[in-house]
Formats: sequence, C-alpha cells, structure tokens
Amino acid sequence: MISKTEDFIIAGTEVSPGTRRTLELPVASLYSHAPMTLPVQVVCGRHEGPRLFVSAALHGDEINGVEIIRRLLRLPSLQKLRGTLLAIPIVNVYGFVNRSRYLPDRRDLNRSFPGSVRGSMAARLADLFLKEIVDRCNYGIDLHTGAIHRENLPQIRANLDDEETARIARAFHVPLLLNSDLRDGSLREIAAERGIPMLLYEAGEALRFDERAIRAGVKGIVAVMRELKMLPATSRRRKQSEPLVARSTYWVRAEQSGILRSTAALGTRVRKGETIGVIADPFGAQEHDVHATNHGIIIGRTNLPLVNEGEALFHIARFESTREAANIVDAFQSDELPLGPALDEEPPIV
Ligand SMILES: [Zn+2]
Repeated sequence: MISKTEDFIIAGTEVSPGTRRTLELPVASLYSHAPMTLPVQVVCGRHEGPRLFVSAALHGDEINGVEIIRRLLRLPSLQKLRGTLLAIPIVNVYGFVNRSRYLPDRRDLNRSFPGSVRGSMAARLADLFLKEIVDRCNYGIDLHTGAIHRENLPQIRANLDDEETARIARAFHVPLLLNSDLRDGSLREIAAERGIPMLLYEAGEALRFDERAIRAGVKGIVAVMRELKMLPATSRRRKQSEPLVARSTYWVRAEQSGILRSTAALGTRVRKGETIGVIADPFGAQEHDVHATNHGIIIGRTNLPLVNEGEALFHIARFESTREAANIVDAFQSDELPLGPALDEEPPIV
C-alpha cells in the first residue's frame, strides 16, 4: 500500500506534498467551557511512500514519547521524506494535563479501542483517533514508558508472528523484542485487525525524561523510516547486533510489605535463585531476600522502595540464551547513540 503524491486530507484540511501542517482535531471540551483539541502534525513528503503515524502519551503521564516526537520533527532529513508522517505527541490530552495515565472518566484509553461515537469519553477519543489517524496510515509506532515509579529497559512489543511487523520491529534499534498478540482493546490489537503493522516502544518511567530512552526512541523511529524507504538510507552503516526475542517474561513480587533495597539494576542478567533485593521493616528486624525465580534479564523494575505485599518489583525476560541477551543489552547500554548534527547541538536532558 503506497500513497500517491497528492494532497493528504485530514479533518477537512488539505496538506500538500512538500509541506507540513499542525491541525487541531476537536475533542470534548473541558467543563470549564475551555475548548480541547487533539494536536496532530502532518508532514507530507514530496514523493510517494507509506503513511506512518507516530503517537505518544496515550497514557497521559508517559511523556518520554512527547520529547521523542519533538526531536523527530526537528530532523532536517524530513525534507527528503517519502510518504506521509503523522505525529501525535499527546493522544490523551486530558490525562497529559492532569499528569494522569487515565482519562477523567478513569478509563484507560489503551483498553478502549475501537471505541464508538456514542460511548464513554475514552471510547469517543479512541474512535476519533482510529478514524482520523490509524485508518489513514499503513504503519504505526506508539510510544510508551513504564507506569508511575516503574522503569522499563528500552524494548519493542509487537506481534512478531506477522512478517511485516517483525521486519520493522527488527529495524528499530533496541536490543530486546517482546512478542505479544493481545486481545485487550489496545490500539495495537485494533491496528493488527486492520492489517496495519504497529510497534509499541516501551522505555523509561512515567512523568520522567530519560535521555537514553529518548535517544533510542528517535533513532529507532528513524531506522524504521529508513527500512520503509521513507527516509534515504544512511551512508555509513554501523554494525548492528540483531535484537533478541524474549521467550517469555515473568514478574517477581513482594512476598511481604516493607522497604526494598534493590541490588539489581535494569538490564542486569540474573540467575535462578539469585538475590536481587532485600525487603526490610524500618528497624531492620525483619529482612526478607527477594530472589529471581528464573534466569533472565531485568527489563522492568520499580523505582519506589516502599512496597506492599504482592506488588510487582522486577519484570524479567527469558531468552534462549541469556548470555547472548546480556551481551546485546551491554552493547546497547554502552553505545553513545548519536543523533546527528542537528540534534547533537542541543544539550542532553540530565
Ligand atoms: Zn503506556
């Protein structure tokens, strides 16, 4: 599916080849009478090519993706774009304003697809996003972070059983891929149903910026756009290790409530039975070791040391070869991830 070099029409607005426009799609206004809109920037290439959407903050407090999209839109190479890029930095505009994952009706937008015009507030926003954005595209990349106080190692989640999805997942420069085919009302599920290959990028923590996660995100999107021939191939090819697909993942939970001292960082290789943290009461009288229940790599972790019994502490992915996975993660973490001249002028976020 290749779009022709003609005006791209969205919400009654035409965007001509070789131009970009920022549009405001009307959504339910605030009860203060203030209008609310969903901002979208359309970059229409001079030449024909695929249509790709890149979205962030479907969960309103997951803001790394907002910065990823800002940097993406500043890249000079977009002047050579083939096809159309739809950038939606803040999908859950209500949650973003409230610094919340959810909508004001307490629903999760990423469980509300396909949505409906007459449904809940979340269902209506889902319906609008689907009709105006997803249905006009051939590919999608949705940017997420861990939940509040939870950090994720940069990873791609996608339905890798679909060949085209697997191809773009491998092109994205992260060490780890998680295969998932969920039936949960997520954007990813609905995109798959419509035959639109879509990646979900997970990196960092809610309400925080993480420079490494942001850089890896920008670099990954650019790499996917090159794979799709939306951007010209890079002249200097760097040696890239193939990402590994996790066989499965599991959670290590708190066996008791208390204060956690984690002894294993994100990206660490762990062995079955290894102690990865200690939970204690404030007096240190009751100390309880936290063990990895299997081999693997820590791909997610709580950053909040105050834990209740049953809470998820570590997310661990298992691989055919844990050693190989650890090497790939190490190589990724020591990589400097340059962004190119235009963006390297900007000071990194620290
Ligand atoms: Zn999310």
